[in-house]
Amino acid sequence: MAAIDALPPLREVIARHGLSARKALGQNFLLDLNLTAKIARAAGDLTGSDVLEVGPGPGGLTRGLLAEGARRVVAVEKDARCLPALAEIAAAYPGRLEVVEGDALAIDHRALLTPPVKIVANLPYNVGTELLTRWLDVADWPPFWQSLTLMFQREVAERIVAAPGSKTYGRLSILAQWRCEARIVMDLPPEAFTPAPKVRSSVIQLTALPAPRFPADAKVLSRVTAAAFNQRRKMLRAALRALAPDIEDRLRAAGIDPTRRAEQLSIAEFCALAREIAA
Ligand code: SAM
Repeated sequence: MAAIDALPPLREVIARHGLSARKALGQNFLLDLNLTAKIARAAGDLTGSDVLEVGPGPGGLTRGLLAEGARRVVAVEKDARCLPALAEIAAAYPGRLEVVEGDALAIDHRALLTPPVKIVANLPYNVGTELLTRWLDVADWPPFWQSLTLMFQREVAERIVAAPGSKTYGRLSILAQWRCEARIVMDLPPEAFTPAPKVRSSVIQLTALPAPRFPADAKVLSRVTAAAFNQRRKMLRAALRALAPDIEDRLRAAGIDPTRRAEQLSIAEFCALAREIAA
């Protein structure tokens, strides 16, 4: 297969810069540049966009994003050992790669980027769900990004795209699907990574809708889904009692039988309930 760029193979980069993987930083690297280019393509046309990448590591996905034509990549990396390897990539793509050293949880991403923005990352497992929640759980919509193309453990990816009635349906499914188109676009076996993790992984693609599917206040919806799924086996009239003393009436007013359980409710029904509780 043709090389995607003129830079050295990743194994050589890792050996030269001594980038032995650290478990505490969630380091499972992708070394196949054809695979990283394929993940970059899953994010759609990048040519007119800034791309935020969290955790570039030795730069496999970064190289995929640049080779696929991203206007500019802003890559936030916590591990200072990776910076010299990333500087070599920046030199090969003048003016198109900005590396920011730091913790992605402590940085204001929006301030680093010029719209339109896409976020593409092979996320560290320990902070992946927290970052996703922060990108999704905002008061105003549309958000600063157009799409998220993210690697997760298969089990988390399934929760994100789950439909009502399934065991994996929960707060994350509602948070993601209320205001986005969500789908799994790629499955990867453990051997795709170095070192190989214990679990399978999937790439999910979330595209921000111009407006929420159903009206609701984001904060109220979040409170309702938190209470409902914290006691997912209980009937809603019991699980939601703390939210409103007249919860049975509110459920009925929203057209929901109070004896149903959280995992049976559609997103439209959760939004109807959030509107009733806010009223
Ligand atoms: N993108 C590379 C790849 O695909 O081969 C590396 C992916 S590895 C799963 C996760 C990367 O995130 C590592 O480089 C790790 O150092 C970095 N990382 C871990 N925690 C981070 C944080 N809080 N902020 C920024 N980067 C972080």
